Amino acid sequence: MTGPARVRFAPSPTGSLHVGGARTALFNWLIARHTGGVFVLRLEDTDRERSTPESEAEILRCLTWLGLDWDEGPERQSERGDVYDAAIATLKASGAIYPAYETDDELEAQRAAARADKRAPVVRGRRERDPAEIAALEAEGRRPAWRFAVEVPGETVIQDYVRGPVTFDHAQIEDFIVVRSDGTPTYNLAAAVDDVDMGITHVLRGEDHISNTPKQMMVMRALGAAPPDYAHIPLILGEDRKRLSKRHGAASVEDLEAAGFLPQAVVNALALLGWSFDDKTTIFTVDELVKAFSVGRVSKSPAIFDLKKLQVMNGRHLRLMPADEFVEALVGWLRSTGYIDARGPGAEERVRASAPLVKRKISTFADYDDLAGWLFTPLEIEPAAWEVLTRDVKHSIQVIGGGLGRLEALPEFTAETVKDALQDQLHVMGEAARDFLEPQRIAVTGRLVSTGTYESLALLGPEEAFARYRATLARLAELWAAA
Ligand code: GLU
Repeated sequence: MTGPARVRFAPSPTGSLHVGGARTALFNWLIARHTGGVFVLRLEDTDRERSTPESEAEILRCLTWLGLDWDEGPERQSERGDVYDAAIATLKASGAIYPAYETDDELEAQRAAARADKRAPVVRGRRERDPAEIAALEAEGRRPAWRFAVEVPGETVIQDYVRGPVTFDHAQIEDFIVVRSDGTPTYNLAAAVDDVDMGITHVLRGEDHISNTPKQMMVMRALGAAPPDYAHIPLILGEDRKRLSKRHGAASVEDLEAAGFLPQAVVNALALLGWSFDDKTTIFTVDELVKAFSVGRVSKSPAIFDLKKLQVMNGRHLRLMPADEFVEALVGWLRSTGYIDARGPGAEERVRASAPLVKRKISTFADYDDLAGWLFTPLEIEPAAWEVLTRDVKHSIQVIGGGLGRLEALPEFTAETVKDALQDQLHVMGEAARDFLEPQRIAVTGRLVSTGTYESLALLGPEEAFARYRATLARLAELWAAA
C-alpha cells in the first residue's frame, strides 16, 4: 500500500461498538495515519427500525475514547437518498438492474427446485417482461424489488490483500436486490455507491462481508467506476475458539472501559487481533503502531481475543504511564465508578497518596480495591490472611510484637526508615524474610495481597499503623490465652 489511502469505517448504529468493529475501525485508522491518508466515518443507518441515535452516539463516544479520530463524517446513509437515487437511475437506464415481481412463494419454489437439482439455491427474477405485462402487474398493486442482473456465466475475482485472489463463480450469486419494493436502497447498493462517491481507495472489513464484495464490485462496475482494493480480516474468537460474544466476558468497548482497561492497552490488544509485527513484540504505543502497521502482515487465520492477555498488557501500559498521568487516570476512573464518593472525605487524597504503591502491581484500575481498599476501612483481617497468622500464633505474636517495638522507637517514620528498621529486626530475631515480613503486612492491611509492606506502613503514618498492629496483637493474644 503506497500513497495516502482513503479508508472508511462504516458501522451500522444498531448496538454498541463490539471488539470486532473496534478492530476494523482501528486497522482502517492505522492505514490512514500510516499513509498520511484520510479516515472517513460513515454510519450505515438505512435500517431505520434497528438504527438508533443512542447507538450512534455510543459508537462515536467509544471511537473517541479509543483515540480513533475521523477526518470526514460522520456521513449518514439516511441523509444520502439523493446520491442513491441518482445511482439507481443510472443502473435502471443501462439495464443493469431490473424490476422483479416474483412473489415470496415463487422465489421459494425456485430455491426448492435448485436444491432438488443439487444446485446452489440461487434466486433470479424474470429479467425480460414486456411493458403491457408490467402495467398489468402494477395495476394489481404489485411493487417490484429491483435486482441486479448478474452476468452468467461469469466470475468476479477479488485481489484480496489478506487472502490473495478469491474467485466467485457468478452461478453461485443470486440476482441480489438493490432497491427494496418500498423504494429504499439495500446495503449492497448503498455501500458500493458510497465507496465510489467517497473516493475510498481501500476497503478493509471483516471476513463475514466477503460474499458481499463481488456484488458491490458489480454495482461499481455497472456505474462505470473501478472498485477499490479489498482486505478481509479474520474472524475474532474467544479463548474457547468460539465466535467472540458477550459470553466471553467483555465483548464491547463499553465493557472494556467499564472493566477498568486503558484505551491505549485496548488499542494495543485490538491491533494484535490478526496483525503482528514480528513473533515477539507485544507491547506497542499508539505511535509505534502507526509506524509499524501494514496490511501485508495481517493473517488469514482467526484471531483469539484473550482477556487474560489484555490484563497483563494493561498492567504494562499502566507502568509505562508517567506518574502524574497515572494518578489522574486512576482518580478519574475511581471517581467515575463512584468509588471515591462512597469512601467519604479524604478518600481522594488517600487514593493519590497510594497511587505510586499500586502502580507497581496493578493490572487494571478495577484491581485498585483489592490492593488498596484496606486503606479506607478499619482493620479487618480477611479469613485467608488470618489463617496465615494463626498457623503459629506464638510465632506471629513474637514477630509482630518485635516489629512494632522496633518501629515505635523510630524518630522518623518513612518507607525508607521503616524498611531499614524491619530488615534489621528480622536479622536480630534470626527470622527468614518472608516469615517475618508477611505477618507485618497482614497485621496492618489485613490482606494476603496488598500494596508493599514498607510503603503501606508509611502511608498509614505511625499513629494508625501502630493502632492496627496493636489491634492484631490483641486478637492473637486472645486466641493464645484461650488455647
Ligand atoms: N455496516 C456494515 C457493518 O456494520 C459494514 C459494511 C462495510 O464495512 O462495508 O457490518
